[in-house]
Amino acid sequence: MEGLEGLEDLARHWRGARSVVVLTGAGLSTASGIPDFRSPGGRWESYQPVPIQDFMASRAAREEYWRYKGETWALISAAQPNAGHLSLAELTRAGCLELLVTQNVDGLHARAGQPAERLVEIHGSDAAVVCMGCGARSPREAAQQEWEVGVATPECACGGPLKPATISFGQGLVAADLERAMRAAESCDLFVAAGTSLVVGPINQMLPLARSGGAATAILTASETPFDSECDWKLEQPLEALLPALARAVQSAQ
Ligand SMILES: [Zn+2]
Repeated sequence: MEGLEGLEDLARHWRGARSVVVLTGAGLSTASGIPDFRSPGGRWESYQPVPIQDFMASRAAREEYWRYKGETWALISAAQPNAGHLSLAELTRAGCLELLVTQNVDGLHARAGQPAERLVEIHGSDAAVVCMGCGARSPREAAQQEWEVGVATPECACGGPLKPATISFGQGLVAADLERAMRAAESCDLFVAAGTSLVVGPINQMLPLARSGGAATAILTASETPFDSECDWKLEQPLEALLPALARAVQSAQ
């Protein structure tokens, strides 16, 4: 594999690190067949995200939102975690990964076996629904099945509207999740961003925060990011090959 030297060097550093924090983004799930649903030419090209205020105020907005979420879930739920997701879960079980923060809402890290106590889904998850009335959270399946048989806007037993548990436009991040991610970045000694172009705030600030706390930083992303010039390693190989190679190297004899 090209860039093997950088990989070995990063693995050496990883082995010696006390606390490693990883941030993942959409690039990790492309090998699982999860597309950018709003890409040009796609069925949802012209779809405008429904802001949370509209979702709460208008039944028509809730119907539009559920049409998008109901259709895209068919693809997401049929996707399987790839070798990249599996390698990160393996590193966590081996005690080599303190916290995994993901921007992805596909639930694939959890399905790959990432322990819940070492996972922050910072933009929420499509694998659950939450009642916007009483706050009750439940697995996606029941609401999805209702939608599939013609219930345009699934509701909770309390009468409140159910919404897939992702962070919608206009909706704040979960403060405790953000706090946990930032604290982990601040106190780690190796920070790794994988499959993210690091343009979405505030979570992209994990990298400069980690760096100012003295951590080494790696960016494993094929595209350019705003932080390329200040990281210690930039590796651009496909993650479904790079992460397994890295996991093997990290766990090899010291
Ligand atoms: Zn409810």
